[in-house]
Amino acid sequence: MPISESMVQDIVAEVMAKMQIAEAPSGKHGVFKDMNEAIAAAQKAQKIVRDLSMDQREKIISNIRKKTHEQAEILARMGVDETGMGNVPHKILKHHLVADKVPGTEDIKTEAYSGDRGLTLIEMGPFGVIGAITPCTNPSETVLCNAMGMIAGGNTVVFNPHPQAIKTSIYAVNLVNEASIEAGGPDNVACTVEKPTLATSDIMMHHPAIQLIAATGGPGVVTAVLSSGRRGIGAGAGNPPAVVDETADIRKAAADIVNGCTFDNNLPCIAEKEIVAIESIVDELLHYMVNEQGCYLASKEEQDKLAATVLTPKGLNRKCVGRSAKALLAMIGVEVPDNIRCITFIGEKEHPLIAEELMMPILGIVPAKDFDDAVEKAVWLEHGNRHSAHIHSKNVDRITKYAKAIDTAILVKNGPSYAALGFGGEGYCTFTIASRTGEGLTSAKSFTKARKCVMTDSLCIR
Ligand code: NAD
Repeated sequence: MPISESMVQDIVAEVMAKMQIAEAPSGKHGVFKDMNEAIAAAQKAQKIVRDLSMDQREKIISNIRKKTHEQAEILARMGVDETGMGNVPHKILKHHLVADKVPGTEDIKTEAYSGDRGLTLIEMGPFGVIGAITPCTNPSETVLCNAMGMIAGGNTVVFNPHPQAIKTSIYAVNLVNEASIEAGGPDNVACTVEKPTLATSDIMMHHPAIQLIAATGGPGVVTAVLSSGRRGIGAGAGNPPAVVDETADIRKAAADIVNGCTFDNNLPCIAEKEIVAIESIVDELLHYMVNEQGCYLASKEEQDKLAATVLTPKGLNRKCVGRSAKALLAMIGVEVPDNIRCITFIGEKEHPLIAEELMMPILGIVPAKDFDDAVEKAVWLEHGNRHSAHIHSKNVDRITKYAKAIDTAILVKNGPSYAALGFGGEGYCTFTIASRTGEGLTSAKSFTKARKCVMTDSLCIR
């Protein structure tokens, strides 16, 4: 059999990868004590990734998908054990979703212009080493999703994960490198540090090798990244309202909203955080939520106790984030059966359990006198994040009006919020939704830069 160039490349890549396995520190691929070392290792790996064929990159990504499927349960359990947030069955689903629906190299497209003066291509190339900051709410999901898109774009990545989720994040970083090595790619395509801190993040943000930073988290980290002087992808906070009008299928709306709100105990940033409903249908909606969807109707006194428990003068009580409705109610001395999965009540938009982004299955309902009032209240509640919003209505004109007014990266109509992640909805999945910087649902192409390649007076064959 003749030896082709691609076979030689495969053998060279395999040998280089084996050489690097021997150098890997402490048996954890891609994990370093020092941020500068992590960046240097990722730079070395990027020189190899840059020269891999698209086919070879795709082999690495396919192997990340395979390993993510195989280890979905381990990753889910680790995430819940380490952070105390979310629930295992939903986190398993989230990992399968990442494995199935995060785009790979097919996302990188070339634009062509051909005419009398030749052929020009706009090709999407890598930035090099990308710095990524990841949250504790979807720790391994975000590491895996970012790594797949960034490698597809020809980059390598250095993570500064949330310190509360470091074990889970390291496990995911290791998985990515093992997948790369097994598929004939280099080690250290994803790197991190043993102890991420604000200081390691600062080193990363100002290192000359890092030309792009992708930050997934609350408003603080997005502002820090956008002030770093580097190009930043800012995937920040949301507070998604779900509007329900009188034309909606109210029973289905109740089911969709509670399903979306309670997914992974409300951790996804896109999840329904409050409802704005037209006055005339509030009772019917509440009836289905309480009698069919496992919602607990909290009294005024219970709402006050909950507010005092989940909110502190410094902000959210971290011990309450991503906890189940049953656990939250137990904290205020209310015992409920296992089928209770959400807490609800009727309140004004300024109610602290409604206005704040809680990331807990607490779903206040704000009555609105008519549709215009509902839109105004929902826009106020979204706080200008322009992140995600949802609506249940059969009136296309109203949906259009709402979409324009709220101007969010995601708008789910007549379905649960997780349809936007590709779970029961069309389209691809991401756990980095960059509303603030405009990429929207990030994918491999978000992690590439455009380059113009011009051939004059030739190669146009029209
Ligand atoms: P967080 O803001 O506390 O932490 C996120 C990451 O940023 C962590 O790695 C943290 O260490 C780091 N960080 C925080 N402040 C920083 C600073 N000043 N400089 C450098 N790094 C800093 O958020 P979290 O609790 O981990 O996650 C929940 C928040 O993230 C919610 O607001 C949620 O809406 C948001 N989120 C957004 C998306 C999205 O795609 N838009 C996805 C997941 C979570």
